[in-house]
Amino acid sequence: DRSLDGLTALVTGAVGGIGQATVLELAAHGANVVLADLADAEDLASGIAARHGVAALAVRMDVTDESSIATARDLVAARFGRADIVVNNAGIMQRLSADHHTLPASDFTRMLAVHVAGSAQVSAAFLPAMRDNRFGRIINLSSVIGHVGLGRRTAYSTAKAAIGGLTRGLALENARWGVTVNAIAPGYVMTDVLRAKIAAGTLDYDRFAERSAVGRWATPDEIARVIRFLAEPGSGFITGVDWLVDGGFSIN
Ligand code: NAD
Repeated sequence: DRSLDGLTALVTGAVGGIGQATVLELAAHGANVVLADLADAEDLASGIAARHGVAALAVRMDVTDESSIATARDLVAARFGRADIVVNNAGIMQRLSADHHTLPASDFTRMLAVHVAGSAQVSAAFLPAMRDNRFGRIINLSSVIGHVGLGRRTAYSTAKAAIGGLTRGLALENARWGVTVNAIAPGYVMTDVLRAKIAAGTLDYDRFAERSAVGRWATPDEIARVIRFLAEPGSGFITGVDWLVDGGFSIN
């Protein structure tokens, strides 16, 4: 199934757990992929290109740094013309066990800078070319925590809820240009980073598995396939949703 043939997808935080699964899923469906991360993605990009017969470009990007976003946009324009699909996936976690009144103010603003301003600025950089081409797909990563809230994760809860507002505003502004803007709100997803925390005893697998109705965490692939679905040309009537992919966590 090459439903994304001829399209170019940029994924921020592409080296992370959900990011890697997403670039693999999009490439497997024929998209050229741009792996944007603070971390080096060269090896990952060449592996994906070899495996799926698509072009894969690694770019260093800090989503809080406008000049690095502009550099990435120019590299993408030179190589592919534009990005048809942008997945705003880069993210950070809140320090453990920090009630809001004990959290340094700089941690709070950093959380908003990466998730909210980062997604907004990366979108702004790639939207004009999408509009010119009368096609675009922006997919933001929010979280079930943005819907239900989580104590000791107030900064994260705030940032992820704000992704919903960003998504709806951009969806309304850009719909007439064939550009859809949606968010995915995953439940708990078993990435390497979180697996290591569980192994170290600083994160409780069972607590969050039991909160979900299906009784387990998601795999990164289960999130990536929903992102791919929203990215497809056939998904043009879905815009402005903040779609829970949480195994029933929010209704349990
Ligand atoms: P991860 O920690 O595995 O990967 C995050 C990636 O983002 C890393 O490669 C990191 O280098 C990159 N990154 C961080 N700051 C950046 C910046 N300023 N500029 C560019 N890149 C930056 O995280 P993950 O678990 O794969 O999460 C991906 C997204 O999904 C995040 O937005 C996260 O909040 C969201 N999410 C994750 C879960 C989960 O359970 N894992 C659940 C809901 C939502």
